[in-house]
Amino acid sequence: MANPEDNPKLHALGFAVSSKVPTHWYNLVADFPEPMPPYLNPRTHEPVQPADLEPLFPKSLIAMEMSQERYIEIPQRVRELYSTYRPSPLFRAHNLEREIGTNARIYYKYEGNSPAGSHKPNSALAQAYFNAIEGTTRLTTETGAGQWGASLSMACALLGLTAEVWQVRASYDSKPYRRMQMEVYGAQCHPSPSQLTEAGRVLLEQDPQTSGSLGMAISEAVESAVGDPHAHYALGSVLNLVLIQQSVIGEEALVQLQEAGETSAPNVVFGCAGGGSNLGGLAAPFIGQNLREGTSTRVVACEPASCPSMTQGEYRYDYGDTAGLTPMMKMYTLGHDFVPDPIHAGGLRYHGMAPMISHAYHLGLMDAKAFAQEDTFAAGVEFARAEGIIPAPESTHAIAGALTYLRDGENHDDEVVLIGLSGNGVLDLPAYHQVLGGQERPA
Ligand SMILES: *Cc1c(COP(=O)(O)O)cnc(C)c1O
Repeated sequence: MANPEDNPKLHALGFAVSSKVPTHWYNLVADFPEPMPPYLNPRTHEPVQPADLEPLFPKSLIAMEMSQERYIEIPQRVRELYSTYRPSPLFRAHNLEREIGTNARIYYKYEGNSPAGSHKPNSALAQAYFNAIEGTTRLTTETGAGQWGASLSMACALLGLTAEVWQVRASYDSKPYRRMQMEVYGAQCHPSPSQLTEAGRVLLEQDPQTSGSLGMAISEAVESAVGDPHAHYALGSVLNLVLIQQSVIGEEALVQLQEAGETSAPNVVFGCAGGGSNLGGLAAPFIGQNLREGTSTRVVACEPASCPSMTQGEYRYDYGDTAGLTPMMKMYTLGHDFVPDPIHAGGLRYHGMAPMISHAYHLGLMDAKAFAQEDTFAAGVEFARAEGIIPAPESTHAIAGALTYLRDGENHDDEVVLIGLSGNGVLDLPAYHQVLGGQERPA
């Protein structure tokens, strides 16, 4: 491991960060009425001990993963980096309200202004920081659509680490711009499965034409990190630590809704759910408020019909990856060898759901609904034509959730509806082009 003292990019610049950038992350674990089931060691099936995770993560992140604290302080250096794009805006969707003809008040929390165009830097910067202060020099990771790979590559560049990314084959081929983004940040990006790891070679032997999956890419990134004493692994979703770091979204939204004049808690929050991190980040502070203060905000996880882990999966222990290298987590899962169709919303193609979200869903603290791709894109196009922002294909699921709800024939007058707009779709224009009936398929 390197001496972190030698890394000048780690030192706080010491400027006064706006008080609108949260000082603490929120951890829903502290407010659950029942404890979450522990992770299990994949070999012994005993509860995972912190030391079991040390080949993968630095000690500070392992502590965050297992933390029971309600609020966790955000380091000054991370707040400085957040302040380049946070607080993220909360917009009232006046134009969309008029299009729909609703008397509900629709708000959306927009994460697409970050350097990577999504919520993912919220966790990437924190994970890169905690690794760097413990002397990690290289981070490995997986990426679906490329949002997480690009975010971690950016974070590593800003904090003086190198990044190596395994990108799901389907997205590697169909979404070259994220790969190019990673290159600009100085990272290495491989299509997964690859010949570079044992897990990848086995998968390619079984099916040389496989379009890949997040589970496969995780296996490769984990194997690469475990084999290198200077490297750790970073996961872009699913883990408690990621959902905790993403809670800046919901913590800001709580304050911003008040600033917008809302005196009571929102009626419904819609978020898209792949691994559960943007949804968890936005919704957990509201679920916590329900549990502590008796508010009754309903949270709806919006997932793709082609990868419906919550609405069609089983709640059981499963691996986080295809090869079975990660701890076993109790979660809603379609099975760790499930390979979803290559839909445009690459970031939602994960077989499982964050254990924290799964636990909340199992306890009846939130709902879930699945949406077909044609309906989500129709919602995305409608949103773009009303509000101007072209949403990421993933985010269109949350919009479809809200539009379906507001058009269900019930009376929603004076309700407050909050949509998590997890990212912009500027690098996903070929997907919109195709869905709108465009002929030529971009390379
Ligand atoms: C990655 C991604 C998602 C899905 O991941 P979660 O962990 O479920 O949030 C959603 N939206 C965007 C824009 C993404 O990049």
